[in-house]
Amino acid sequence: MLRLYNTLSRKKEAFKPLHGKKVGIYTCGPTVYDFIHIGNLKSFLAEDVLKRYLLYKGFKVKHVRNITDVDDKTIRDSKKEGISLQEFTERYTKAFFEDIEKVRILPADIYPKATEHIKEMVSLIKKLLQKGYAYKAEDGSIYFKIEKFKKYGKLAHIDFRQLKAGARVKQDEYEKGQAQDFALWKVWSSEDGNVFWETELGKGRPGWHIECSAMSSKYLGKTFDIHSGGIDLIFPHHENEIAQSEAATGKKFVRYWVHNAFLMVNGEKMSKSLGNFYTLRDLKDYNPIDIRFLMINGHYRQPLNFTFEALRAAQNSIERLNELIAKLKEAKGKDRGKIKKPVAAAKKKFESAMDDDLNTPLAFAALFEFVRESNSLLDKNSIGKKDAASALQFLKKVDSIFAVMDFEQKAEISKEDLHLVKERERLRNEKHFAEADEIRKKLAEKGILLDDTEKGTKWKVQK
Ligand SMILES: [Zn+2]
Repeated sequence: MLRLYNTLSRKKEAFKPLHGKKVGIYTCGPTVYDFIHIGNLKSFLAEDVLKRYLLYKGFKVKHVRNITDVDDKTIRDSKKEGISLQEFTERYTKAFFEDIEKVRILPADIYPKATEHIKEMVSLIKKLLQKGYAYKAEDGSIYFKIEKFKKYGKLAHIDFRQLKAGARVKQDEYEKGQAQDFALWKVWSSEDGNVFWETELGKGRPGWHIECSAMSSKYLGKTFDIHSGGIDLIFPHHENEIAQSEAATGKKFVRYWVHNAFLMVNGEKMSKSLGNFYTLRDLKDYNPIDIRFLMINGHYRQPLNFTFEALRAAQNSIERLNELIAKLKEAKGKDRGKIKKPVAAAKKKFESAMDDDLNTPLAFAALFEFVRESNSLLDKNSIGKKDAASALQFLKKVDSIFAVMDFEQKAEISKEDLHLVKERERLRNEKHFAEADEIRKKLAEKGILLDDTEKGTKWKVQK
């Protein structure tokens, strides 16, 4: 049985959906004010692994991922550029979809946009007003009264003695120490330019937190199974989502809160000022699948240190997997069923690792142990067509979660030449263009032509 670490209880809990085999998941973001950076990507990939493993276990998953296309940041930056909020956010929404496809993230079932759910937010805020959990301030903005919601702070473990009753915070993002009544509806101010809605609540726009409460319950119900995001969202965003939703419905909002740890770059926090800030687009010379491998190879609750060395190691690991696939496809030994035991053992280890709060490092270890054992059987010519088929079937099953292998590759070129292709790709990524060109020429003489694509270097044999 799958166990997940629930931020709410700070414990691993057995995962049991509310409705049989059906699972509802809500994942936050992106906020479409920039290209997604690799820190965002780590979070989205962890969520992809969770979702894929639920599918592997036979659950029926309904996945909702919202697009935050109105908040403080999107308004600020669209104004800076002097274009409309819509034009601005559409650019980054489109880029988001392109980026997640490159790293093989399964699309969500529904992508609600905040700007298309203002009606739902207004009715939720009205309900909070009616129940006395919200109030209108002098300027006409509406705030959530945290004092009234007794469970406030249960997710982020806030010390209530520090709270200032009646103090307010209007901006979307703030620190835990500044927990205060937060804005549900922000009355229009000149800073918002032409971003506003005329509603029963007045002329204004929603706060960021109410967006997710309104959109999640619309598509998943008042109570649903899993809500996930980066740990930076625990406070204030998720804490406020709980307050808004549970105050309005009187029901438990989310059953399992799953949070992903930070990404570091070269041992430091990623930031533009340190010059170690990367979007996926900045890394266009690297294979996105290598990046996927690197990100999911660590445990989702552990901070991950991104280095280019680790990225090269990821590339080598994928190469080992793909080489095994190529060799299995050509296996010509006698079928003696010798692969059965390693397959069964690897499957068991893999599943028990994944069942234990998605322990991908252990699951990968089981996979590579299987690679070693298979290679040794292949070296002894002890794998036949049937054996190879069952090994490939197992790899495909594993790859339904990891999604890093290539089963379509044609083994038309020798292992040595394939190695040269990879070696040249590496040199090229490291900007050793002269050496990379030497290899290209050498391969071209043998009739092997290369094509450098966004998904890495492809080769074909000239007939
Ligand atoms: Zn959210």
